[in-house]
Amino acid sequence: MDSHTKASLVPPLEAVPFPRPTERPPAEHDTSTAERGSFCLALCTCGWRGPARRSRDLARKDATRHTSP
Ligand SMILES: [Zn+2]
Repeated sequence: MDSHTKASLVPPLEAVPFPRPTERPPAEHDTSTAERGSFCLALCTCGWRGPARRSRDLARKDATRHTSP
């Protein structure tokens, strides 16, 4: 009985934990306006939401005030 065909237990390269590049969430403030029925409100990618406005102009102003310091 020959046991030369014993498989060596070398872990595959894929098993080595690879340092993942730091994933950054979209922290930029990208605003847009959404219509809710007859109301309009500003939305931001950061999760911010402006109050419901009667006009899109006001919602846009809310968004501008949110993005500008
Ligand atoms: Zn924002």
